[in-house]
Amino acid sequence: HCQVIEKLGEIPILVKTVQDLKKCDALIMPGGESTAVRKLSNQQAMTEELKKFGKNKPIMGTCAGLILLSKKIENSDEPTLELIDITVKRNAYGRQVHSFTQQGKLVGLNGLSEFEMVFIRAPIITEVGRNVEKLGFIGEQVVMVENENILGLTFHPELTSDPRIHQ
Ligand code: GLN
Repeated sequence: HCQVIEKLGEIPILVKTVQDLKKCDALIMPGGESTAVRKLSNQQAMTEELKKFGKNKPIMGTCAGLILLSKKIENSDEPTLELIDITVKRNAYGRQVHSFTQQGKLVGLNGLSEFEMVFIRAPIITEVGRNVEKLGFIGEQVVMVENENILGLTFHPELTSDPRIHQ
């Protein structure tokens, strides 16, 4: 993500503490392991700060980041930031070896356009609230959503060379 941001002429800041977060105009919550990120965020007393940030500044969450932004995780009581009204199912395509790349479709970037999507032990979005816009698809499946300042993707746009989503 940092490399894409730099290519786009902006300055990336790695956020590991609340002080780092306070320097940012916008935030990317990257992929990884959502339980680990939640624990670290709690340890750093950052969870409430992330919620506040997401009330008025842009956040893009990819994969584990999207899981943390969601309203609910299926079959789980693990808390989330509840910044976008969707339900997700973790690891929904199977294990790490079932990761894949597929050509998907995006709405809103000059009409409907193709985008190469990398899914790494990705979640599936199983419910989408009324105010949430569906912006990306593989087949019928929704893989990118937006509500006001919150953008969420189940895939990794930073791993392909197309910078349009970051843009
Ligand atoms: N499987 C991870 C999770 O459920 C997400 C994987 C990813 O971010 N690429 O947290």
